[in-house]
This record gives sequence, structure tokens and C-alpha cells, in this order.
Amino acid sequence: MRVAIVGGGVAGALLAWRTVRAPGGASVDLFTEGTGGRADASRVSGGLVRAFEPTVEATGPAAESLAEIRSSDVLREWSGYRETGALYVLPGVASVKEPAEVVDAYLPGSAEVVGRDKVVREFPFRTLPADSVAVVERHAGHISPHRLRTAALGAAAEEGVTVHSAAVDAVTQDPAVRTADGRVLRYDRVVVAAGAWTPGLLARSGLPVAGLRTKHIQYSLCAAALDGLGPFVDENSGLYGRPCADGAFLLGLPCDRWGVDPDSVTPDGALAQRVAESARRVFGVSVAVDRTVASCDCYHDPAGLALRSLGPGLHTFTGGSGGAAKTVVSASRKAAAALLA
Ligand SMILES: Cc1cc2nc3c(=O)[nH]c(=O)nc-3n(C[C@H](O)[C@H](O)[C@H](O)COP(=O)(O)OP(=O)(O)OC[C@H]3O[C@@H](n4cnc5c(N)ncnc54)[C@H](O)[C@@H]3O)c2cc1C
Repeated sequence: MRVAIVGGGVAGALLAWRTVRAPGGASVDLFTEGTGGRADASRVSGGLVRAFEPTVEATGPAAESLAEIRSSDVLREWSGYRETGALYVLPGVASVKEPAEVVDAYLPGSAEVVGRDKVVREFPFRTLPADSVAVVERHAGHISPHRLRTAALGAAAEEGVTVHSAAVDAVTQDPAVRTADGRVLRYDRVVVAAGAWTPGLLARSGLPVAGLRTKHIQYSLCAAALDGLGPFVDENSGLYGRPCADGAFLLGLPCDRWGVDPDSVTPDGALAQRVAESARRVFGVSVAVDRTVASCDCYHDPAGLALRSLGPGLHTFTGGSGGAAKTVVSASRKAAAALLA
């Protein structure tokens, strides 16, 4: 079977590696532009990985991925996994019991459900709504999706994947890819794993964008005295973040800029200011924004990186919706199996 994968972010790279190694195997061509340093999502990703998510559906793939990274010397090394724990704070209406049970099935003993008072006592929150609830994970932390992508691309090439440093101009239902220099190359399977560039590539190809759309994501690297705080999400304020190696604290808030062009994303200064103000309010410390990093990702409803069909032999593998660093390890294994079935 001949497979073409368009896109060399962490999704395309791991899918290529999984596909070439799968039982029965396949001949794989991967097309990637931007190896020269494009700020794709995989390059700038915060890399937070944890098992817990607010729903059972989202927790499964995240927990499965994290369990595989932790149990594999190869994936731990490729991804640069650092285990620092994680904290996820939710409003009291949230039911955390079922997702926490899913975490426990993959990572026994990792997750503990705690009340608001314990969070305020043990982490530097100045205040939290009275009915807040939180999940504290021991086995969680962060990876470098860029490092993981680079290693997976190298290993895929060693296993026989042909990596073309070339942009794909369009894909067709044949299925085939048309490269920027006008060549049309036919395959048994074509997978568009071009992240936030996917909707534009499909539209340019005259294909339906299949519910995929882009959204701006940014975080700020801040000077903030947040001792005792590791990777965290606080759904009350919307803040999320983690400490970085250079002493800065990565802090972000969700953004609602939809339909952005991935080639012209620039930092939103007002959002960066809101991050600093919100962090000052929630933690009661001074917070100064040093630098803001902006990019975007491809979103889908329901969210999640998955192989989705566009017709016989033609697929997308994107839609991570700002969270595919957490799920790409399991999603790529499932996608490779489905592709070759
Ligand atoms: C700022 C930011 C912070 C994030 N933080 C986290 C986090 O903490 N935890 C988490 O789980 N997730 C996080 N994410 C999400 C996660 O990083 C992404 O979901 C994931 O990296 C997406 O990978 P991808 O391979 O689908 O896309 P990308 O990494 O964007 O890769 C797509 C690739 O396709 C290439 N391409 C595009 N068009 C073409 C074409 N026509 N021909 C050939 N190649 C093409 C591009 O050059 C690019 O290299 C974050 C995302 C952003 C933007």
C-alpha cells in the first residue's frame, strides 16, 4: 500500500512512523514544508501533558498517550518528558469522578481528587470559589512536541519513509497530491495532517473543510513568583501554565479568534495583558509579561486528533483543538491501524 502524508508536525511525523512500522507495513511518502523554522503548533507548543480532562471521552486518549510515553524509553527520550505533576481546578458543578477513574485505569494511583481548601493550602492560589474541586496528578508534566516530531521524522526516515521537503499545493479524490511544482502523485491513501493549514489546503483543493477551523492560541512567558506551582489549569479563571526551564512562568488564557490565517498570526497584546491581570488577581503576586508566543491550531467539534474520512482513501489527521500534544501518541497508533485496515 502506498501512503502519502501531508504535514510534518507532530501529528504527521508520528503517523508516518507508526504507519511504516505497522504489521503489513506500507510505503510512506511524507511531504512537509516549513522545516526551515515555521512557527507551527508543534514548534511553539507548551507541551503540557496530563491524563485528566473534564470528560471521560477526552481523558481516555490523554491517559493512554501519557501511559505509553512513561512506559517507553524511546518515547520518553524523543519527547524529552519531564514529570512534574499537574493540577486541574474546576468549578464545583463539575463531576470529576468518572474521568478520574479513567486516569486510574491507565496510571494507577496518579490522580487524587481534592477540595478547594487543600488547593489553597498547598498551591499559591490567593483565592478560589468555595465549591471548587481539583484533580492533582503525580504522573504528568510536559514534553517537547518539536523534539518528538524531529525524532519521529528521523526514525521514520530510517525505517524507509521518504521525507519530501516540499509543499503540497492540493489533494484530490483519486487520491493524489499535487506538489507546488505541478507534479501529480497517486497513492492508495492520502492523509492531510497539516494542522492549522488543513482547512486552507482542503478549500484550495475544492474539497469540503469538514468542520475543521483554525483558532489563535498564545501564551506569555512571565516573571512571576509562583513557587510551588507546577503545570496547572484553573477553569474558574481560565488560566493555565507551567514553569519553564529558564525561570520564566508560561501563562495563558483561552482566545476566541477563530478562522485565523496560520501564516499571519501575531501576538494579541490585549490578551497578554489580561493574562497578567488575571494571574495577579488569582495568585496575588506581581506578574510581568516578558514575551508572548502566538500560533494557532486546527479545531474540530467534537475536539480531538483523529483520522477522519473525506472519501475513499482520502483522510485528515488533525483537529487536536489545542491539545494534541497530550493525545498524539495514542491517536497516531489508532490512525495508522485504521489507515491500513
Ligand atoms: C501556542 C500553543 C500552545 C499549545 N500548548 C499545548 C499544550 O500545552 N498541550 C497540548 O496538549 N497541546 C498544546 N498545543 C496544541 C498542540 O501543540 C497541537 O495540537 C499540535 O502540535 C498539532 O500538531 P500538528 O502536527 O497537527 O500541526 P502543526 O504542528 O501545526 O504541523 C502542521 C505542519 O504541516 C505543514 N504544512 C502545512 N501546509 C502544508 C502543505 N501544503 N504541504 C506540506 N506541509 C504543510 C506545516 O508547515 C507544519 O509543519 C498548543 C498549541 C499552540 C499553538
